[in-house]
Amino acid sequence: MKPIERSTKLDGVCYDIRGPVAQEARRMEEEGHRILKLNIGNPAPFGFEAPDEILKHVIHNLPTAQGYSDSQGIYPARVAVAQYYQQRGIRGADADDVYIGNGVSELILMSLQALLNNGDEVLIPSPDYPLWTAAVNLAGGKAVHYRCDEQQDWFPDLSDIKQKIGTKTKAIVLINPNNPTGAVYDQAFLLELLKIAREHRLVVLSDEIYDKVLYDGIEHVSTASLADDLIMLTFGGLSKNYRIAGFRVGWLFISGAKNLARHYIEGLNVLASMRLCANVPCQHAVQTALGGYQSINELVVPGGRLYEQMDLAHKLVNDIDGLSCMRPKGAMYLFPKIDRKKIRIKDDELFVLDFLRQHKVLLVHGRAFNWPEPDHFRIVFLPHKEQLAAALGKLAQFLPGYSQ
Ligand code: PLP
Repeated sequence: MKPIERSTKLDGVCYDIRGPVAQEARRMEEEGHRILKLNIGNPAPFGFEAPDEILKHVIHNLPTAQGYSDSQGIYPARVAVAQYYQQRGIRGADADDVYIGNGVSELILMSLQALLNNGDEVLIPSPDYPLWTAAVNLAGGKAVHYRCDEQQDWFPDLSDIKQKIGTKTKAIVLINPNNPTGAVYDQAFLLELLKIAREHRLVVLSDEIYDKVLYDGIEHVSTASLADDLIMLTFGGLSKNYRIAGFRVGWLFISGAKNLARHYIEGLNVLASMRLCANVPCQHAVQTALGGYQSINELVVPGGRLYEQMDLAHKLVNDIDGLSCMRPKGAMYLFPKIDRKKIRIKDDELFVLDFLRQHKVLLVHGRAFNWPEPDHFRIVFLPHKEQLAAALGKLAQFLPGYSQ
């Protein structure tokens, strides 16, 4: 019998955060090794648990959540999301503008499937959260990467963005707060970016899933609050701010020039109805999460667990000769630079594998985030301080003699 080939639709589609390096970690686990997995931003396994009231609300609604819901999501969840964006300064936000999905991931896929024709280009940051690149390519589009500048606190390089806009450019993706760099963009930058989007009639897709995971007093501005004349798609969810990644709850909120997006919205509705609806019991978490006490605020200030871990990981990484790293302003990752004059690396994936095999700690190589050079990696700072210090101690020991 002929072997089954994978579809050519998958050319250019990859998600290396759970790719070969993670598979090697699994193989090692099956051999009996204990691996510290610093590859995924999954707060709960590290002891960051959901606020109790969210669990209570989901459990309370379980008996009546057995049926499918409206394809866009249950009404109280959509109202809660709309009100959240009203409070963040977005005029006219309405429950009908909200789509609840099985995580932001599902909505990223849906939003691009509904938007792109073959060959349409989408501007995506480099480094990126790689689902964006994969989802554009899967939808038949072409991911065109714009450079974020490490010397400028990892802000996107506006001149690079301008240069990369062509006749086929349809949309631009922003990840703010950023995964993997930890950058948070200020209003002045966002306004400049919106000028470009306006000039070239680009749809703006703003992934704001970490919009409450902010350090050192930085404020987050939702891009959609700054423009109502463009088509704005804002993505948010419960996985990170409320530490319930396993519940798979996210949303897409459409605002701005909705009158210009009528056909697009019809397409999105078809896709939403084809997958029937998002997990219904967990949709009940949205209203409680957004409306209730924001316990994340305790975690991200000095003395709070996430802040202290960020602070320590940042310091320890910068203490290692040959590494340097911006202090993150948001999210839960560091994206350190490897000085290749000091540490001889040609292949960053091999570097991650070598470290994994020797020290049983799993990182992700920078090229998995569509960063062009083999000189970065990403580390998740979710483990307790002792565990983080031990893992970074191993890195400090491993790096000096390392060469490929
Ligand atoms: N967007 C970014 C920037 C992320 O980092 C992640 C998860 O790590 C997602 C989206 C997907 O989140 P969800 O759990 O809502 O699917």
